[in-house]
Amino acid sequence: MTEGTLAERYARVKAGIGSNTRLIAVSKTRSVEEIKALLKLGHRDFGENYPQELKAKAAALQKDIRWHFIGHLQRSNVKHVVGIASLIHSVDSERLLDEIEKRSAALGITTDVLLQVHIAQEETKHGFSPEEVRGLLAGAPALGRWPHLRILGLMGMATNTEDMDQVRREFRSLAELHRELRAHPGLRPEDFTELSMGMSGDAAVAVEEGSTLVRVGTAIFGERSGKATG
Ligand SMILES: *Cc1c(COP(=O)(O)O)cnc(C)c1O
Repeated sequence: MTEGTLAERYARVKAGIGSNTRLIAVSKTRSVEEIKALLKLGHRDFGENYPQELKAKAAALQKDIRWHFIGHLQRSNVKHVVGIASLIHSVDSERLLDEIEKRSAALGITTDVLLQVHIAQEETKHGFSPEEVRGLLAGAPALGRWPHLRILGLMGMATNTEDMDQVRREFRSLAELHRELRAHPGLRPEDFTELSMGMSGDAAVAVEEGSTLVRVGTAIFGERSGKATG
């Protein structure tokens, strides 16, 4: 999966997802030089997981990059992300929505977000349950409560398993929830168009199940040496 030069891997990944899905190159832990190499190939969508790292890279790199925040976001870090990220994929609580609203209002901007939904079997993945998302939208007329947010869709991560049938079922359930919620009176159907699902190991399945945004790191940049967490 990770043989060849960066340009070869990038071309392979792009060809694999087709033209209806946007590719986000996940550049967490990668150097500014590695990102520049992909910029030279014309790529502009990059995904980051850590607020301070996003902030530092955004300051160091050209301004036409579209940064996607995809990691777990704590409310105390919202100030580092709002105003930089063009889309926050990983909004997983009502309090976080409120905090992003507050910060966006203070800056006088509108922030685009996705609601992260827990579809995997692992306990460790963050996100709303489908019931919580329905409750969130039923309980609050979403547009009125967060006037500085645009909720553009859903994000999910499948179980980390070799069983692609299970992965497919999880992606399909997210796509079905997305279709269901599009009709919700608290959302603008013309806004609610994005479905962020698929990573290096399961992007092909995600695209088949309707993904509009795939988040691919390893298959483009190679294996991450990783943070020393043992
Ligand atoms: C790291 C990460 C990715 C990319 O994972 P790869 O397996 O390297 O493609 C995608 N999405 C999220 C949320 C991530 O944290």
